[in-house]
Amino acid sequence: MHICRSIAEIRNVMWDLATDGSVGLVTTMGALHAGHMALVAAAADDHDAVVATIFVNPTQFGDAKDLENYPRTEETDLAMLRDAGVAAVFIPDAAEIYPDGEETIVETTHLANILHGEVRPGHYRGVATVVTKLFNIIQADAAYFGEKDYQQLAVIRRMVRDLHMPITIHGVPTVREADGLAMSSRNVRLIADERYDARVLHLSLTVAEALIKEGKTVEQAAESIRGVISSKRSCKLVGLDIVDAETFAPVTGVPTKTIGIMISVQFLQVMLIDQKEIAI
Ligand code: AMP
Repeated sequence: MHICRSIAEIRNVMWDLATDGSVGLVTTMGALHAGHMALVAAAADDHDAVVATIFVNPTQFGDAKDLENYPRTEETDLAMLRDAGVAAVFIPDAAEIYPDGEETIVETTHLANILHGEVRPGHYRGVATVVTKLFNIIQADAAYFGEKDYQQLAVIRRMVRDLHMPITIHGVPTVREADGLAMSSRNVRLIADERYDARVLHLSLTVAEALIKEGKTVEQAAESIRGVISSKRSCKLVGLDIVDAETFAPVTGVPTKTIGIMISVQFLQVMLIDQKEIAI
């Protein structure tokens, strides 16, 4: 496995990989877990070679403490990627990606600033900008993103479409712990009872799905989510959006088309998100 820390090095490796066949890309911030590895497996199924990136992107963090405390486990990450047969890893530092600051940015102007984008201002602009840079550096045939980050996936699909980027985007279903908690690099920052309580994220979405399937309204589903999450003292619901899966417009009443439910839940040190798409 090639480990490349500079753009020049990864471009050299990409030259050979692209000559030999198709390349699937998985972009990550490291602290890898089975969720990331599901993206790698999906990319490996479809392509001759998989390239992964590990970069904790400073511009998508609103909070300096969150950036500082983001888990970094480079050695185990590289071992996991090597075991999965990844051909090359691009692991740059911030100066390599942002040598001259942030003069040029990429933003899906509406989609980046609604819903979870309101909870984390600037977050999706940081994501779109860094993903554009990584797409331009790697030039893979396709890239794989988790459905867990539901709005992020929508932002990237929209950006690729609007900017005519020559890359195919694939969504991969969320990988969960045994109690339903979506795997996340941030889960290690849950303290004491929080880890136990965190199962209410998925539980609340499952209850809401059952209500929608019974023909209840999205308002009733939202009420039940609020009830389930407020039953736990260690966390607070800070975002709840029920949207049309295609347009991300808010939905009211009994849904007639596929909807997405997105929740953001704040614990003492960390905010976790989860999502469920419900076909009608
Ligand atoms: P991150 O390292 O958190 O930026 O995530 C890198 C990629 O892995 C993103 O496309 C995420 O959506 C995806 N991902 C993170 N957690 C999971 C999960 N539990 N299941 C599937 N994909 C995930």
